[in-house]
Amino acid sequence: MKSFGFQKIVDRQIDLDKADLSLVQALARELTGWQRCIGCGSCSATCTAAGMGSFNPRKVQMLVRMGQWDQVAQEAVHCQLCGKCRLVCPRDVDTRQLMLEFKKLQTISRP
Ligand code: SF4
Ligand code: SF4
Repeated sequence: MKSFGFQKIVDRQIDLDKADLSLVQALARELTGWQRCIGCGSCSATCTAAGMGSFNPRKVQMLVRMGQWDQVAQEAVHCQLCGKCRLVCPRDVDTRQLMLEFKKLQTISRP
């Protein structure tokens, strides 16, 4: 096949009717503040781990809202818990604490 220098974007449709939002609700009970995120991307722009790969804390925030827990857990392992994201967040979201909780998703059972 001839290469045109680009490729089709992978289908990322998400069926929200089938999304598992139980952990979002559990997270809302346990941790406050993360709902303040406005998706500005400042955390991603300054993130230590993002500078070394495709990790993107803003994307993780969006995946949480869509109940994509498998992806959240896979992404969170890349966080180095440096805390720079919190310093730049205009909404004072403690993304580092969130990532710490998401790392636990690898080992805890879901509600
Ligand atoms: S910097 Fe704060 S408000 Fe902006 S995307 Fe990151 S967590 Fe959300
Ligand atoms: S704590 Fe994690 S998400 Fe935040 S800047 Fe550091 S590596 Fe990135």
